[in-house]
Amino acid sequence: MKFAELIDENVEELAILDSIDAGKLFSTGKIIDIPQAANTVRYYAGAADKIHGEVLKMSREFHGYTLREPIGVVGHIIPWNFPSTMFVAKVSPALAAGCTMIVKPAEQTPLSALFYAHLAKLAGIPDGVLNVITGFGPTAGGAISSHMDIDMVSFTGSTDVGREIMQAAAKSNLKTVSLELGGKSPLVIFDDADVEMASSLALIGILYNKGEICVSSSRVLVQEGIYDEFTKKLKEKMEAWAVGDPFDPKVQQGPQVDKRQFEKIQSYIEHGKREGATLLTGGKPLGNKGYYIQPTVFADVKDDMLIAQDEIFGPVMALMKFKTIEEAIQRANNTRYGLAAGIITKDLNVANTVSRSIRAGIIWINCYFAFDRDCPYGGYKQSGFGRDFGMDALYKYLQVKSIATPLYNSPW
Ligand code: NAD
Repeated sequence: MKFAELIDENVEELAILDSIDAGKLFSTGKIIDIPQAANTVRYYAGAADKIHGEVLKMSREFHGYTLREPIGVVGHIIPWNFPSTMFVAKVSPALAAGCTMIVKPAEQTPLSALFYAHLAKLAGIPDGVLNVITGFGPTAGGAISSHMDIDMVSFTGSTDVGREIMQAAAKSNLKTVSLELGGKSPLVIFDDADVEMASSLALIGILYNKGEICVSSSRVLVQEGIYDEFTKKLKEKMEAWAVGDPFDPKVQQGPQVDKRQFEKIQSYIEHGKREGATLLTGGKPLGNKGYYIQPTVFADVKDDMLIAQDEIFGPVMALMKFKTIEEAIQRANNTRYGLAAGIITKDLNVANTVSRSIRAGIIWINCYFAFDRDCPYGGYKQSGFGRDFGMDALYKYLQVKSIATPLYNSPW
């Protein structure tokens, strides 16, 4: 609770550090990321004294029960896109579970993690419990995933690195692995949707945090009856979107995190053009200083195009037209990922059917990005396994021990 209080007292400093490191909007950090980080710490602090096992009804005359014990030493390896959110999502349930831990922030964004470690010390968390080690992936991250004395690695990042981490865990001490990986999430918009609302959700779904968000609505499937009207509105909104200095309160999109990401996004845009998708808007860098990219939409995208299958992790949307609910479900699932999905419709039967039929860990109906510290967050398929947030995240840092003893006069 004291740690959460100190985060609240240092909102501006933490938001500034994340803006400098990642190009994130200062205004959003100040009113969303950092206050929510404090609330996440508070949520798990409240859970710390409510961890218990069960009394078992054993088939023979035994008194049997389970204990939930901390899994041990945890290595958290986190990405750069939400440095504060990721830090607390990993650290607070592990602390509540009673684990000790090493956090390796992404090399692009180490500043806020170091500041959180400082605040944890001020809050009275004993030395050695919460440790931050900065460094590069293959060296500092690799040392964690292959370490013989680390009991679990909790990773958020790309699917390729997730694979390497699993291999390193398997080859070392078979540590427990939790992986929150990439996504290519569909937003499915049906004919009965309010086009004004649907186009705004699709816009935010792809442009929030400059598209550097694993659950971005990077594939937007629109039913044919409203497709033309939707496309017109979306284009207008995209072209009015303000890109620029992340410290300017009027700006809605800052620069991409670094040169590598900036170039990767542009190479996907070039791919989209070569693959024959229609460039509806954007498609170029903005200005000649800084890693800014125009909000970009490709229309007439086919499922097998690279821009429909690969995670671009930037402000680039793949727009598709569909006819029937069956087609929408089939195409929404036509991806190796399974992180999130959105559905926009007024028809309850359609919403319920589609939400059950999409293989993804998070479904948002008539909304998008409905994050909450109480909502488990994680993937199906190659988006990984294990959950952050909610009580499921607490349980992943605990293991179950069964204890049994014969009852008095038992025939044992
Ligand atoms: P990344 O996989 O390159 O790096 C993530 C972290 O892993 C960094 O700290 C990095 O230093 C470390 N790392 C890199 N190579 C390593 C290795 N060989 N061994 C151990 N650690 C290593 O990912 P990124 O580019 O920083 O982040 C973007 C990716 O993260 C995207 O794919 C995105 O979808 C994903 N992501 C997923 C979620 C989720 O909850 N599912 C949330 C945010 C980001």
